[in-house]
Amino acid sequence: MENGAAQPPVIVAIDGPSGTGKSSTSKAVAARLGLRYLDTGAQYRAITWWMVSNGIDVADPAAVAAAAGKPEIVSGVDPADPTIEVDGVDVAGPIRTQDVTSKVSAVSAVPEVRTRITELQRSIAAGAEGGIVVEGRDIGTTVLPDADLKVFLTASAEARAARRSGELKGADVDATRAALIKRDAADSGRRTSPLAKAGDAIEVDTTELTLQQVIECVITLVEEKRAGK
Ligand code: C5P
Repeated sequence: MENGAAQPPVIVAIDGPSGTGKSSTSKAVAARLGLRYLDTGAQYRAITWWMVSNGIDVADPAAVAAAAGKPEIVSGVDPADPTIEVDGVDVAGPIRTQDVTSKVSAVSAVPEVRTRITELQRSIAAGAEGGIVVEGRDIGTTVLPDADLKVFLTASAEARAARRSGELKGADVDATRAALIKRDAADSGRRTSPLAKAGDAIEVDTTELTLQQVIECVITLVEEKRAGK
């Protein structure tokens, strides 16, 4: 581990819209600095998957709210092998389907869902030995407002769509772009803890940067914080 035993724990919040490189960056930064890693989007996807699998109408906020406390969601926080389980079932694959992706914004807008998942996120961060990188939409604003470092990643809609369709192996770029814009608008426009940049977050526009450059940039920011700069 590069951080050594003497380093105090550090909490890093990385927020931003879809396709800005949050997951790849957060995982790599955590691995390099010997920190834990939490993908909060995976938790919202997991609860959405459970709702769909249990026949809950995700367009009915009251039905989603009534069921929000039922599934048990467990996140593994090793950046080399992040895991996500619902009621003991590994859902890493099923949570990435188009069906879940198209429904997750509606589920994550329900206040009872956010309260439940936010509590889970705070307890994971509090128990993370050595520190943690937490990525999402509302980490710097709501979940961990006292994080040591807050980063807000952005990129043009074109760059985000191109990256996402690359990940989805040849998906249509225009359709991916339209779906991303729709999801970001829903996530930014919801009443409860919307996607937003915290006032004290450092914004990094990744449009013209390679993944490696974004990783180095965030590592430098963490090191500067640790050095008290
Ligand atoms: O990051 P990812 O695309 O996997 O996130 C899926 C969805 O989970 C987002 O579109 C958003 O609706 C929700 N989410 C959220 N708050 C977070 C992380 C994700 O509402 N902190």
